[in-house]
Amino acid sequence: MKYVDEFRDGALARGIGARIAAEVRPDRRYSFMEFCGGHTHAISRYGIAELLPEAVHMIHGPGCPVCVLPIGRIDQAIGIALKHGAIVCTYGDTMRVPASPAAGPPQGGQHPLGGREPQASRGSTESLSLMKAKARGADIRMVYSAADALKTARENPAREVVFFAIGFETTTPPTALVIQQAAKEGLGNFSVLCCHVLTPSAITHILESAEVRRFGTVPIDGFIGPAHVSIVIGSGPYEHFAEEYRKPVVIAGFEPLDVMQACLMLVRQVNEGRAEVENQFVRAVTRQGNLAAQRAVSDVFELRERFEWRGLGEVPYSALKIRAGYAAFDAERRFDLHYEPVPDHKQCECGAILRGVKKPTDCKLFGNVCTPENPTGSCMVSSEGACAAHYSYGRFRDVELVAESAA
Ligand code: SF4
Repeated sequence: MKYVDEFRDGALARGIGARIAAEVRPDRRYSFMEFCGGHTHAISRYGIAELLPEAVHMIHGPGCPVCVLPIGRIDQAIGIALKHGAIVCTYGDTMRVPASPAAGPPQGGQHPLGGREPQASRGSTESLSLMKAKARGADIRMVYSAADALKTARENPAREVVFFAIGFETTTPPTALVIQQAAKEGLGNFSVLCCHVLTPSAITHILESAEVRRFGTVPIDGFIGPAHVSIVIGSGPYEHFAEEYRKPVVIAGFEPLDVMQACLMLVRQVNEGRAEVENQFVRAVTRQGNLAAQRAVSDVFELRERFEWRGLGEVPYSALKIRAGYAAFDAERRFDLHYEPVPDHKQCECGAILRGVKKPTDCKLFGNVCTPENPTGSCMVSSEGACAAHYSYGRFRDVELVAESAA
């Protein structure tokens, strides 16, 4: 197939669904986790769950970059802008992720993150965000790429410019390249607040969790492996999960036929008692991945011993930090930042959703207090978040349709 429309052919999708239905065993259920938010979005958008037989159950994973960003890291970025007067550049979705409550000291005055507390929000429990901090006068700018942040630094030599870098292995190489470029140019006003996280460590964390190992409340028979992440890291890093944990992994593209085919491949592995890494996304993923990108990343970054993920807590060796050789471009060192964990909104179930324990409709705030226009939790921000995807495409299926009787 050559064009994207061909990967969205409804008749073919229904055909694959019928093959899956014919191959599932009547005596068992199949639970597969799609790790990546791109797949979560595709499953909701194209109604893939409805095309699968009842025996096949999809569990949303934590692979949405803004969903797993903990409040404490967003507070750090807001603090850099408000307290230190720096220009903070970041990707669009990050701007709307809820941070700490906006309420400041009881008598007003300075907000704990910096800047003055507006009269209207005193005593409020509404969360701040980068967008709301911008409305308070912080110089926070949305960028489309890491290169845009570097350009902002070149254009503002008298200002500190910080790139708030988030995301999985897909967005890490561009951050590495801009740090290398800034070093080459000797840019003294540019730094990066690095919050890049790693997919394989998160999968290990999920497989080692009590819900999977001890209680069995999250039954995982296999994974749909990420598309774009795997272009960078290759399929090799998932072999560990097949060999050590006996979990099949099928790396899949983001189109509906990709996901349907991956489900069929997983069902077949389970039925045949195999646990292997298979690559459905052969048009883009190889076993070794993008070696040039991997070289740039390992030149600039090293593993962090621990990093807090929203929902998963502290996950060992699951994120990257900037190497000492590039310390001048590390915003954490430049602004002497110390990480403070901050609890989520009490009623928000994002943590349980990101661990695969609950689904969006289990949250009391879903669709009433929390909507994509006014998110309370991080899973409602990006279109890849489980709550936002279900709100946009799936919530109508939860409502029972009752035919109006003729009067
Ligand atoms: S609906 Fe909102 S508050 Fe509830 S879990 Fe989802 S993002 Fe969190």
